Formats: sequence, structure tokens, C-alpha cells
Amino acid sequence: MRYISTRGEAPALGFEDVLLTGLATDGGLYVPESLPHFSLEEIRSWRGLPYAELAYNVMYPFVEDAIPADDFRKMLDETYSVFTHQAVAPLVQLDTNEWVMELFRGPTLAFKDFALQLLGRLLDYVLEKRNQHVVIMGATSGDTGSAAIEGCRRCEHVDIFILHPHQRVSEVQRRQMTTVQGDNIHNIAVKGNFDDCQRMVKESFGNQSFLGGKTQLAAVNSINWARIMAQIVYYFQASLALGGPDRSMAFSVPTGNFGDIFAGYLAKKMGLPISQLVIATNRNDILHRFMSGNKYEQHQLEHTLSPSMDIMVSSNFERLLFDLHGRDGAAVKDLLERAAKGPVSIEDYRWKHARKLFDSDAVDDKTTCDTIREIYEQNEYMLDPHTAIGVRAARNCRRDSAVPMITLGTAHPAKFPDAISESGLSVKPQLPAHMADLFEREERYTVLDNNVSEVQGFIAKHWKNA
Ligand SMILES: *Cc1c(COP(=O)(O)O)cnc(C)c1O
Repeated sequence: MRYISTRGEAPALGFEDVLLTGLATDGGLYVPESLPHFSLEEIRSWRGLPYAELAYNVMYPFVEDAIPADDFRKMLDETYSVFTHQAVAPLVQLDTNEWVMELFRGPTLAFKDFALQLLGRLLDYVLEKRNQHVVIMGATSGDTGSAAIEGCRRCEHVDIFILHPHQRVSEVQRRQMTTVQGDNIHNIAVKGNFDDCQRMVKESFGNQSFLGGKTQLAAVNSINWARIMAQIVYYFQASLALGGPDRSMAFSVPTGNFGDIFAGYLAKKMGLPISQLVIATNRNDILHRFMSGNKYEQHQLEHTLSPSMDIMVSSNFERLLFDLHGRDGAAVKDLLERAAKGPVSIEDYRWKHARKLFDSDAVDDKTTCDTIREIYEQNEYMLDPHTAIGVRAARNCRRDSAVPMITLGTAHPAKFPDAISESGLSVKPQLPAHMADLFEREERYTVLDNNVSEVQGFIAKHWKNA
């Protein structure tokens, strides 16, 4: 399998190189040159498989040039055995033909564990083979940082430096990052905001000379193809559990960077019958505005009760735009260069095609809280604010009540206690047993000024073989 850039100029790469690369050299994102396609018969034969075996069937075509089958199987067994539910991604029923798929049974209680637990193992495997080392540098406003740290804590060939805005992430989120002990784990609290952190990461990827040529940076944000790949699997899992592929499914996906829902779109292209995909956003609704009016335009960032979806632009949307433009990299490059300067539209027939693929909705904080309360009153089931947005959008956009509607449950409510109390619930969300002592664990992080040379100097000094 070869991977090509959405902007058409960077060289095609194999899986190993795509894994270790962030952006393509032309500024684009890597996508597979072609997708595997599974027949209904083949998909049907996967019914009842344990999650890791299903994951193998869905993902192996993407990695087969780089990893022998047995090694990949072993990696997947290890990856999904750390989840605290035997089904890995269990379904919970909300109403007749309406479900939540709980994707928060991993070590950091958000769906990002599905991809980042695997990514850490993939990186270490490939780096061991190549006798190479990387430094992961990433910025986080919450969930990505902790999932990346958990995913890489046992990697021998990886040092990880995660920047978070000092005193601007929730205490649960901070502790999930700073209480993981390991010589290769470094948390940096930057005296600035999330954008400052992200800018420093971007600048460092652009010029890595501070590492003295002895190692290189690797990316763990959702522009990394391996993350998208791992998220395709649970769409198959949910479908098979509810009678697929002999009936089609609808999914509603709480969306920020368009990674998780793009994986659903790929599952459909790979042969899984999906009749509806709902893009669920919060007030940072660039995707909903595009889907409603064919205008892709950045607005000011708004801070919401669903912080993991607080974005101004949606980076993985570029991957969809590539397909909408018949995989014409030059057209995508032109469009996105214009989009960086002001609002853009696409040709009407392409936009109409996008509207056939996706429905969308934007949900504000008040309606998020109303939904948390409503579902709790109906079912005594507590949603986190991101999942609540998905459930609300699912109910608003649903087309056919005979088709099972599955909302991706992206986080555990205990990660967002403020949103739960704002919803007026009198019960508090409880952390699961394996994290019950989170507030007693020892924290370790370094506070640095909002200054890129200071941060780079810290990394240059503290990575393993520095
Ligand atoms: C990251 C995240 C999202 C958004 O996922 P994307 O792939 O960026 O669309 C939604 N909910 C939670 C809880 C998250 O951590």
C-alpha cells in the first residue's frame, strides 16, 4: 500500500514512512492511494470475532508491506487487552434502535486510546527495526496529551514531550498526563494558551535544528494516518453487533478535527453499509456551516463545555476535500491556500455530493446540558458533554427510525465533572476503579515561559541520548 499527499506534490510513501512523518513536505496530509474493499460475505464472516481479530482483518491491508501478519496480530492483542471492558467498545442502548458505543474504556477514558495505544506500539516496532529514535512533540488542550503519553510510556525508542497551557486544562486532564511516571515522559506547562503551544510545535517541526541532527520529531495528532486507520475498526464492530452488514447503520460522531468521522466515511467506502453519517459539532461549527451553506470560513475560537472539540479549522477535512475534488492535489492546494486567507466555497456539484455523504448539526452549551440531563432522567445514564452533542445531533438529524442510530461515545463523564454539575445533575460522575486514586498520585511537570527557544532548549537537554 502506497500513501499519497492531498496536495499532490510530495513523494508517495510506504506505511513506515507515513507513520514517522507528520505533514507531507508539500503541506498536505497522507491518504492511501487506494482503499481495500470487503464484500458483504467477507464482512459477515467476521461476526462474533474478538475486537483484536476484527481489527486485524480491517487494518492489515494498510500495513502488510511493513509488518508480518503474526507481529501485527500480537501488537493488536496487546493494544486492546489494556481496555477495561471485554468487548473493548461496548454498546449501550438509549432507546428503541438508538445506541451509544462506549469508546472510553481505555486507559485515559477517551476514544483517542484506540489509536494512540496502537500508535505507540507501531512506532516502537518500526523504530526498533530501523534502529532509530524519535522525539514526539505535541500540544494538547486535554485528551490527546494523556492518550499519547499512555500510548508511548513503554516505548524504548521514543521520548515524548507534551505541551499544555499552564493552569488552563482541567485537573483530571492534567493529572492524567502528569502522574504517568517514566524517564521518556516529559510534561511541559507553557505560560500561555493552547494556540501558543501549538505554534511552538509547528515551528519546531518546521526547523528541527535544535535537536542537532541526532534524532527527529514525530507527530501524534490526528494528521497521523495511523490514527485514522485504527478508528475505522469500531464502525465495523458496531455494525456487526447490531445485525450488519445485512442492514445498514447510521452513526453520529462528535467532531473537532474531522478525524473520527472521516474514519466512518472510510469504513463505508471499504464496503460497510452505512446509510447516514452525522457530523456533530459544538459552537465551533466550521464544518456545520460548510455543510449548510458551502462556505468554509474560520471564526474566532469559542471555549465550550466540550473542550476537545474547540477548534477553528478542522485539519482532517482536507482528506475529504481531496476526494470531493476527484483526488486532484493541485485543486486542494489552491483551495486551502485561499482558505488560509479568507472564506472559500467549492463548486456546487461537489458540495451537493458532500451533503449526500454527511448530515450535520451544531449544539450549544445549554442544549448540551439539557441533553445530559434528559438522557439521565430517561435512562439513569450519564453522558459526557462531547457524547451529549453526538446524541442531540443524532436525534435532530435522524432520517429513518428503522436504521440503528449509533452515537460514538467519545469520553467518560468523569473527565468533565464541571459540565455534569452545570447540567444540574445531583450525582457526581465517578472515576473508574483503576483511576480512583488519581488525585493522590504524584505529579511531575515543568513550567516554562511562553518562549520557543526555552522549550526547544528543554527538549534538546532532556531527551534520552541528549
Ligand atoms: C478528540 C475528541 C473529539 C474530536 O475528535 P476528532 O477526531 O478531532 O473529530 C471528540 N470528543 C472527545 C472526547 C475527544 O477527545
